[in-house]
Amino acid sequence: MDARHPRPRILLLHTGGTFGMAPADPHHSLAPGPALERILEQVPELKELADLRLEIPFNRDSSELEPEHILLLARTVRERAPDYQGIVIIHGTDTMAFTASVLGFLLADLGKPVVLTGSQRPLAFVRGDARKNLIDAVDLATTGVPEVGICFGDFWYRGVASEKLSVTRYRAFGSPNLPPLAEIGMKVQLYPHAGQFERRVPPGLGTALEGAIAVHSPHPGMPWALPPEGIRGLLILAYGAGNLPMERQDLAALLDRAKERRLPVVVLSQCTWGGVEFGTYDLSRKLAATGAISGGLHTRWAALAKLGLCLGSGWDLAAIREAFAVSWAGEPV
Ligand code: ASP
Repeated sequence: MDARHPRPRILLLHTGGTFGMAPADPHHSLAPGPALERILEQVPELKELADLRLEIPFNRDSSELEPEHILLLARTVRERAPDYQGIVIIHGTDTMAFTASVLGFLLADLGKPVVLTGSQRPLAFVRGDARKNLIDAVDLATTGVPEVGICFGDFWYRGVASEKLSVTRYRAFGSPNLPPLAEIGMKVQLYPHAGQFERRVPPGLGTALEGAIAVHSPHPGMPWALPPEGIRGLLILAYGAGNLPMERQDLAALLDRAKERRLPVVVLSQCTWGGVEFGTYDLSRKLAATGAISGGLHTRWAALAKLGLCLGSGWDLAAIREAFAVSWAGEPV
């Protein structure tokens, strides 16, 4: 190593997912594999990019993560960050957009890159995407750009705007309502908005992340069930710009009960592109009149993260309504 040009110190946090899995049984279902420390031996060129350390806070399929895992990850990044120029998190793809959203809010003020990545095929498999995604992620982590984002399939996406869009494609993620932060071809091309957003996350969040949020995704004829005891908030993935069948008695009963219990009802669109605009149609105007909160352009993951953090901190309805009107960490609202 050239002492005049020390390589940037990058922390690699491995949390599980397909990336490190190995065929564990004759049916080839994938389970987390052993000896993940060997990543550094398997991708030796990483050493040219950075001085890497590896930690494994937990090793799970991301579909099995609980809010506590994600909060632990946020605390780990916060504690370790002063010793590193950037952090790379290897994570399963299934819930990566949710983790990226929670971290995007809780670490918005970190001031250095936090790059989540993973893969559709394990590192141990041929013709996979794991090696490239990891190298790209480490490269991005050395850029100094203060963003929490997902690096996957040649792009870097802002975490609070991202979604998993494909089960099989190597370009599995996107941020439908925000251009990518960077495109990774021959060069790492950073776009002008990378790192540029107002940081307006209220202080004091992150001691708890409420998961007891009921999500309704209607279709014609769907019965609307009353919120069970223990539910603290509702997320409705409405049609188009925020429409629901407002003549339905069971929906009216649900909205009444939510009001009685002072449960926040956040409304997003079922559509991937665009969002809720209350008042575009009569139905959404009526929905707004019930006290429902427009989630605008939030992804479902950013909305669940924001609502979970607000409820986890005991916020009231008025404060939650205000939270959805403001972009905390560069999320489209
Ligand atoms: N089930 C895996 C996970 O999310 C899928 C993946 O990593 O691609 O952990």
